[in-house]
Amino acid sequence: MLFDPPDRPSGPPAPVGHPALPLLEWPEPAPVVTQEADTGRSRRGWSYYGAFLKCPRKWAYENPEAWGWTGDLKFDEPGGARGLGHVIHALLARHYLLKMGKRQPSVAAVLELNRHLLTERRFKDRNGVVHVTTVQEQLDLARDRYTGYVTNWAKEGLTPMHVEEEFAVGFRLNPDGSIDMVPEGTPGSILFTKRSDLIARDRTGSVWDFDHKSAATVSRGTSRAYGVHGQFHGAWWVGRAHFGPKFAGPRINYVQTWKGRKYKRERPPAAPAMVEGFPRLIIGVASMIKLWSSICKKPSDWPTTANETVCGGRYGMCEHEARCRLGA
Ligand code: SF4
Repeated sequence: MLFDPPDRPSGPPAPVGHPALPLLEWPEPAPVVTQEADTGRSRRGWSYYGAFLKCPRKWAYENPEAWGWTGDLKFDEPGGARGLGHVIHALLARHYLLKMGKRQPSVAAVLELNRHLLTERRFKDRNGVVHVTTVQEQLDLARDRYTGYVTNWAKEGLTPMHVEEEFAVGFRLNPDGSIDMVPEGTPGSILFTKRSDLIARDRTGSVWDFDHKSAATVSRGTSRAYGVHGQFHGAWWVGRAHFGPKFAGPRINYVQTWKGRKYKRERPPAAPAMVEGFPRLIIGVASMIKLWSSICKKPSDWPTTANETVCGGRYGMCEHEARCRLGA
């Protein structure tokens, strides 16, 4: 058993399909001190560790502060959601903060604040005809999907508890190879954080970690890939640590964008083996980051992934492709 800490109180069994995670005596999460939602990356979330697994070189370009690089190459801010999805995300944060009684900017103000994330979009239809969607049309679309969301889930019966808040745990590898989950900052532990879009209690008292996902088309198979997504595996550990046996797991909150209004919520497919292995994965990646940070002096010292499915994904070639091929 990878995770079997002694002398810990155990809670009721985890929901079917997931390992029973131990409970800790955990301090209450810090109270919210600001009413503005921060939808950016958390300090040491899955986007940080997972990005290193995808490509150490790209990770090094995008996380210079993590390995002390102060070179002068500047790149786009990595990680955080961009574009239409980000705008919808910001509107949903506003919705739930309002439900919590926190003062929020108007919908028009939220749209205006996020306008800079959008660019004109062009795509070809089946007949090769090019269509152009302006920034204003995307803002209108975001407003429409938000309005539809509020109506669609008017009777959702959720009590929002936390909106866009970061939660943290530590994972500590013991000399005998076992791993403990410990509070953040425990000596010898590796920090793992998760910024949750929405933590909410349902009518039965169960606590869910909702992850807002906007998708061009939301269909039956949309969730399948999320069963292997580390973000949802980490959510179990963070959720159980902070909310105890009432934590029911992550839940995906879909908002369809381009193919008309559609809203759906579902749990990602169960992945008990990957949930259980998650702390070991984080400790392993952190060890690799530490090793390479100690010997790399510039970005080109970091190993590349050298894999065409990573260097060239569905959004086109990586922005560092020429630098990696030719040297920089
Ligand atoms: S081009 Fe490929 S190897 Fe180079 S940084 Fe991008 S993903 Fe990594």
